[in-house]
Amino acid sequence: MANIWVYSEDVSLAKELVTAAKQLGGEVGAIAITEEVANGVAATGINKVVYLKGEATWAEAYGKEIAAVLTEEGAQVVLVGATPKGRAVAAEVSALMGTGLVSDAGNLAIAGDTLEVERFIYGGLAVSHEAVAFPAFATVPARSNDPAADGAATAVTVKEVAVANTVTVVSVESANKGGVDLNKADKVVGFGRGVEGEEGLATMNALADVLGAEVGCTRPIAEEAKLLPVERYIGISGKQLKGSLYIGVGTSGQVQHVAGIRDVKTVVAINSDENAPIMAAADYAIVGDYKTIVPALADAIKAAK
Ligand SMILES: Cc1cc2nc3c(=O)[nH]c(=O)nc-3n(C[C@H](O)[C@H](O)[C@H](O)COP(=O)(O)OP(=O)(O)OC[C@H]3O[C@@H](n4cnc5c(N)ncnc54)[C@H](O)[C@@H]3O)c2cc1C
Repeated sequence: MANIWVYSEDVSLAKELVTAAKQLGGEVGAIAITEEVANGVAATGINKVVYLKGEATWAEAYGKEIAAVLTEEGAQVVLVGATPKGRAVAAEVSALMGTGLVSDAGNLAIAGDTLEVERFIYGGLAVSHEAVAFPAFATVPARSNDPAADGAATAVTVKEVAVANTVTVVSVESANKGGVDLNKADKVVGFGRGVEGEEGLATMNALADVLGAEVGCTRPIAEEAKLLPVERYIGISGKQLKGSLYIGVGTSGQVQHVAGIRDVKTVVAINSDENAPIMAAADYAIVGDYKTIVPALADAIKAAK
C-alpha cells in the first residue's frame, strides 16, 4: 500500500488530487497551509490532514516545513496541484528532499517502487512515459480529476510552525486583468490573427454573449496585437482549456495553440482556409469569412433559444 500525500493551496484542486491519490490506491494524507484547505480536504475523509499553521502568507515560505512532514510521514508519492504557486512549492520541496519531480502529469500509476506517468512533450506532439522512484513528486493540472466527494471528516492535525514571509507585499493587483480564469471556463470563443481589430473583437464578444462563453485568443493576439490580456491566450504557454466547447475563429491552429484545446469536448473551427491545421483538429469545421459566419451563427443561436 503506497503512502500518498497531496498538496494544493486551492481547496477544489486539493480535492481533485484526493481523487487521483485514491485511484492510485493506498493511504492518503494532505498538507494544508490554510484552515480553509485543511477543513475542505478533511471533509473528504482521507487518512490524515496536517495543517501547518504559520504567520507566512506565501506558500513558498512553508517549503522546509512541508518537506519535514513528508519525510516524517514517509511519503512515497506526493501530488501537487499544478498552479503557479503549486509548481514553485513542488520544485522547492522535491529539491529539499533530493528526489524526482514530473510536471503536468496524467495517467498516473504505481509500479513497484516507482510512480509512472504520462505527459505531453514537444508542444503536445508526443506523449512521454516517465517513471520516478519513490519518494516521487508530480504536479497535476486542475480539472484532470473530479473533486473527491465529502464523507466522514478526518480530524485535522494542527502544527504550529515558525515561518515568516521573506517578501513584503507592498500592494496587490489582480494579475487576471480579464477577470476570468479560462482554465475553468466551460465554453470559450477563441480568435486569432484572421480576426481584425476592435471591430473583430466586438464580433467575438457578441458570439460569446449569446453562448454564455468567455473570450480567449491566440498568443499573437495577446502579445502583439494586445487586443486581450495575456491571461486570455490559449496554448502550450497559455491557458489549457478543459470545457465542453471551443470555437476557434480565424486561427490557423498551430500545434502550440492546439495544445491548449486538446481536452475540450467539442471543437468548432471557423476559417477562410479549408486547409488550415485547425480544421483537422476540429469536430466541426466551417469554411468562410468570419465576418459573415460569426454574426449568422450568433443570430441562429439566439433564434434557437
Ligand atoms: C515557443 C512558442 C510557444 C508558443 N505558444 C503559443 C501558445 O501558447 N498559444 C498560441 O496561440 N500560440 C503560441 N505560439 C505561436 C504559434 O506558433 C502561432 O504562431 C500562433 O498560434 C498563430 O496565431 P494565429 O492562429 O492567431 O495566426 P495565424 O497563424 O496567422 O492564423 C490566422 C488564420 O486566420 C485565418 N483567416 C484570415 N482571415 C480570415 C477571415 N476573414 N475569416 C476566417 N479566417 C480567416 C487564416 O486562414 C489563418 O488560418 C507559440 C510559438 C512558439 C515559438
